[in-house]
Amino acid sequence: MNVLVTGGAGFIGGHIAEALLDAGHQVSIVDDLSSGFRENIPAGARFYQIDIRAASLAEVFKNELPEVVCHQAAKANVRESLEVPVLYADVNILGSLNLLECCRKFGTRKVLFASTGGAVYGEPEFLPVTEDHPVHPLDPYGASKHALEHYLYLYRANFGLEYTILRYPNVYGPRQNPFGEAGVVAIFANQILHGDAPPTINGTGEQERDFVFVSDVVQANLLALNRGDGGIFNIGSGVGTSVNRIFQLLAQFAGYPYSPRYGEPKQGEVSKISLDGRRALEQLGWSPRVSLEDGLQLTLDYFRKANRQSRPLSVNCTN
Ligand code: NAD
Repeated sequence: MNVLVTGGAGFIGGHIAEALLDAGHQVSIVDDLSSGFRENIPAGARFYQIDIRAASLAEVFKNELPEVVCHQAAKANVRESLEVPVLYADVNILGSLNLLECCRKFGTRKVLFASTGGAVYGEPEFLPVTEDHPVHPLDPYGASKHALEHYLYLYRANFGLEYTILRYPNVYGPRQNPFGEAGVVAIFANQILHGDAPPTINGTGEQERDFVFVSDVVQANLLALNRGDGGIFNIGSGVGTSVNRIFQLLAQFAGYPYSPRYGEPKQGEVSKISLDGRRALEQLGWSPRVSLEDGLQLTLDYFRKANRQSRPLSVNCTN
């Protein structure tokens, strides 16, 4: 298949592009490198350094004529979105609409969309959250992602553009940016291995998230190339893990003797969330394969080898 990956220089998009190439697909990448890195772009992918909001996106579609678009590009920081909501709507809604218009004009068959299970549901009424749980985003990031879910629905209804929406959990693994405000596993792993001071946990550390290793999220995208048309899927393990537990496991695996520091809780964060992945199992044949313990070890291995100075400060996503 001929697949265009937006955000393919990012953490998740880079892994997806690599896996698509390994599976024999043709891959092109659109990324403006605002939070992504050239070194995440796999050899063999054609790269266009373009903002998804740009009119020149149409030129990429004209050249590439992608059959499937795997849409990972986004502004993806909950806290930042509360500071600059208009920017989040501009990139995540209007930029994505520019992309959907290109899909429509150049005959793309299907869009895979990276939505967020952590930010669309709001404070959960029950756990683990199913796809039928009420949607009440508490921040502009979550609202912008949910808005695009509606647009995908109406593009399918009106123009026959197929889609699958994947609501990601807290994705973690090699190449996640450890210098952002979010991405707790990458931040802790990097600080435990290379930091001058122990990591700081915001609040009590008893807040829970659903942590899924990046290769499992990649696998969900690969399965959705041919399955899950018109569907919304939680890509979750159904299990919540506290931030304290994440620290504990990383410290144990790395032989780190110090305790974490505790800081003020961050406003606007949900207290506990986990995503019920049963629909993804039934309809996509997806379930997470990498245990939390193995995934954390693999992430530590990566950060052991990574040069701590190699990456600039940038935002990343915990939701
Ligand atoms: P990331 O920041 O590493 O990747 C996003 C990529 O999009 C970057 O390479 C960035 O340069 C690019 N980008 C941003 N704005 C752009 C624009 N206007 N034009 C072109 N490219 C642009 O983040 P990630 O963690 O890999 O997230 C990938 C996707 O998954 C995002 O859509 C995010 O909202 C979603 N998501 C991530 C998580 C997570 O835990 N990491 C959870 C839920 C959803």
